[in-house]
Amino acid sequence: MNKQAGRITNLPKKKPHSRNSMIDFLTKHFRYSDYDRIDSSSYAVNIKIQEVNIGTVARTQCYEMIEVENYLDESGFMAQLQNFFSKQEYRYRIVLDGRSGGYAVLRRIFRKKTDHKSRCKFCQALNFDVATEKKNQCGMCNKPGRVNLISPVYENIFENGGMDTERDFEDWTLEALRKRVLLVWTFDLAVERACHSFVDWAMTHRVEERTIQIPQSIKISVPM
Ligand SMILES: [Zn+2]
Repeated sequence: MNKQAGRITNLPKKKPHSRNSMIDFLTKHFRYSDYDRIDSSSYAVNIKIQEVNIGTVARTQCYEMIEVENYLDESGFMAQLQNFFSKQEYRYRIVLDGRSGGYAVLRRIFRKKTDHKSRCKFCQALNFDVATEKKNQCGMCNKPGRVNLISPVYENIFENGGMDTERDFEDWTLEALRKRVLLVWTFDLAVERACHSFVDWAMTHRVEERTIQIPQSIKISVPM
């Protein structure tokens, strides 16, 4: 991928600073409606291969490379999204939506403490009961392996209702606007980086077909 070519996703190239330009940036940002509901949408980037700004050669190569098993992990694409998630302290996440995952969407996350009290040291299954010396059997693998949790377990829940669906920023303070612009700008860049990772990988690898043996358990008859 030619880095000189600049951004490959269709995003504004100038970060907005004035109140009006920030509102403009947030209002006009590309959006995607998820949950099959038009009344809730969130900031998004169209990452379909035919939509990103790459040349014909790279485009053909990208189409070829999406045939590869786990291409999003292999190419480092997912690692970039994961990086964003941890940098946002697990409060915002980028998810792929659309029929073929053609849209990267910004989603807000709630971290909710679960009521789990113990975890099995053999199969890692969580349990809502406190483990005691006498009562430590695991409900999943049945082994006596439950130990009490030292720190609580959190569940990541997607917030319903999209993000800034109403796009009504007039009453927002300058500080609130700046914070939101920074978040969306960081999101855009993370998606851009992920796409770069994918294109770089696609341009430096080729598909090779392998036949693999998958072990499977079958039932056979044996003489008694
Ligand atoms: Zn277990």
